[in-house]
Amino acid sequence: MALSKSLEGSKGLLQSQELFEYILETSVYPREPELLQEIRVITENHPKSLMSTSPDVGQLIALLQKLINAKKTIEIGVFTGYSLLLTALTIPQDGKITAIDMNRDTYEIGLPIIQKAGVEHKINFIQSSALSALDELLEDDANRESFDFAFVDADKVNYQKYHERLLQLVKVGGIIVYDNTLWFGTVAMPEEFVKESQKRNRLHIIELNKFLANDDRVQISQVPLGDGITICRRL
Ligand code: SAH
Ligand code: CA
Repeated sequence: MALSKSLEGSKGLLQSQELFEYILETSVYPREPELLQEIRVITENHPKSLMSTSPDVGQLIALLQKLINAKKTIEIGVFTGYSLLLTALTIPQDGKITAIDMNRDTYEIGLPIIQKAGVEHKINFIQSSALSALDELLEDDANRESFDFAFVDADKVNYQKYHERLLQLVKVGGIIVYDNTLWFGTVAMPEEFVKESQKRNRLHIIELNKFLANDDRVQISQVPLGDGITICRRL
């Protein structure tokens, strides 16, 4: 049952690894900016490389950002900077990204590439736990309802807390994207099939999905790309 063997360790949830690779090789990699590819490739050597944003998800994020002309964005969970550089390359020259991660060392792995891309000036990196950084942003009224776009890709246990704060920071019509909302497909598996290491976050994600499905402050779409993303548009 559940995930076929060939999908273990893969970022994709599709029924076949071949189909996932087909999408990447046909539509994603040929259009991936060279420096973004460079971050992806250097990240492959990192023991936690699986955390990096799936490139097919990245392609959709960039499309969404262009569609709404995103200029001021928030990113929660930077790691080595794949989604950060993607956003920095997508928003205009005078755009701004508030990028939050409690780990600066991993941000510094991708930083030379971000600098090479000439987009570092768009980034305000905040080394902090995300919850306290968001609360601090909310203390300044100028930040309220000022962001066009948010990407959330950090500790799953806090996603609902981030949601409450992001709804105050993001404009009406703005977009919040949550990553990993299908949690390796485990959300639809009986618990006995789930690896011990995945059980806790599986429950957090199941709760989040139920919560978002009932949250009438947002329009949503659950998209089975990568490890699942949920796109929320603030109403
Ligand atoms: N979007 C990134 C991947 C993020 S991986 C990319 O494209 O590569 C998750 C990141 O969230 C890790 O770097 C981790 O340090 C960070 N993180 C986890 N919990 C956090 C918290 N409570 N506050 C801030 N950052 C957190
Ligand atoms: Ca992720």
